[in-house]
Amino acid sequence: MSPQSGLQREPLLEALRNELNQLDKEELLWRIRTLESPSAPHARVDGRNVLVLCSNNYLGLCNHPKMKQAAIAATRRFGAGSGSVRVIAGTMSLHVKLEQVLARFKKAESSITFQSGFAANAGTIASLVDERDIVISDELNHGSIIDGCRLTKAERRVYKHRDVGDLERQLQGTAQYRRVMIITDGVFSMDGDIAPLDAIVKVAREHQAVVYVDDAHGDGVLGENGRGISSHFHVEGEVDIEMGTFSKAFGSVGGYVVGSKDLCTYLQNKVRTYLLSGSHPPAVAGACIAALQLVQRQPSLVRRLWENTRYFKRGLQELGFDTGNSETPITPVIVGESGKARKLADTLFRMGVFVQPTVYPIVARDRARVRTIVTSAHTQRDLDKALQAFGKAGRELRLLN
Ligand code: PMP
Repeated sequence: MSPQSGLQREPLLEALRNELNQLDKEELLWRIRTLESPSAPHARVDGRNVLVLCSNNYLGLCNHPKMKQAAIAATRRFGAGSGSVRVIAGTMSLHVKLEQVLARFKKAESSITFQSGFAANAGTIASLVDERDIVISDELNHGSIIDGCRLTKAERRVYKHRDVGDLERQLQGTAQYRRVMIITDGVFSMDGDIAPLDAIVKVAREHQAVVYVDDAHGDGVLGENGRGISSHFHVEGEVDIEMGTFSKAFGSVGGYVVGSKDLCTYLQNKVRTYLLSGSHPPAVAGACIAALQLVQRQPSLVRRLWENTRYFKRGLQELGFDTGNSETPITPVIVGESGKARKLADTLFRMGVFVQPTVYPIVARDRARVRTIVTSAHTQRDLDKALQAFGKAGRELRLLN
């Protein structure tokens, strides 16, 4: 074949460099910081001792001695790797035990675990709907939900954030579809507000729609003893598909879905991210089991998380910061343009407080922020120190009066 004459493609690397330069100019480039110690309230990051206020380590389990013991014991007994995908030779008794402990914790009939929450969302949504169906999704749902929807040929509609009236409008004219699936985050990861799941469940029943909720930031945080959003709204057993992750409050890594036995068996047979990807190393499964046991045996973990959340949120508000509609330990400090968020994060880091800017396209261009997350492992002294730094940085950068 002869090359097409006159064809002038931009060389790939040049195009990437141009795009990166543009992102840098707009202060939209990630500057990844490196932890040189465990994820804990006090950590060494990029050579500096700092107070960490941006991890998802809600209950301080990442470096908990019982978690580490469980990971080591699992490695001693089962080795470093699982050897295969779950359906071939990669299901160990530890994986099965984790799914049993998880189903009991979530008061569900059954459960299935995945390598990550992202894999759970991307694979599960794509396996449950096709061109005969429609998905109706909250406009601020997590990217893994959006990508899960992109992997299907199902019709898609988006409803206004947490707006059940708009959800009802989007449910009109759906009679021709075989299946209608409403998908929502439980706690929204950038704003820390909570989906009105009780109202969503009610509307779904009226329209014979299926409800899918992502409880990534609700587990270990909301509900009785951290059982999650269904417990918070007393709708346990009424949500068809509950997805979650072990990478946040449970201090390890891994995604899951809980629901009926048939749902989980179906997913074992259909979800490509489950069928075609290696299973968790034993250390991960062991640590996840330990996390569920710890949360159930130590109610003080969740209690302390909420005491710290209330204290810190009130402190930020009293300083005069805009914390949006947050109702959970995720508290955004909304400053507007991306450059301001970057400056605030950099100034705080110099003062010994580690937070990250969150900018477009993760949030709207004029809603850039630093996102704070307190954990149950922070002390009141830690939070006072952080508030003092926020006040000083806010005044220095003229974000506060
Ligand atoms: N859903 C939500 C709402 C999340 O915030 C995240 C993590 N950023 C995920 C899913 C993905 O979970 P994981 O980290 O386990 O892949």
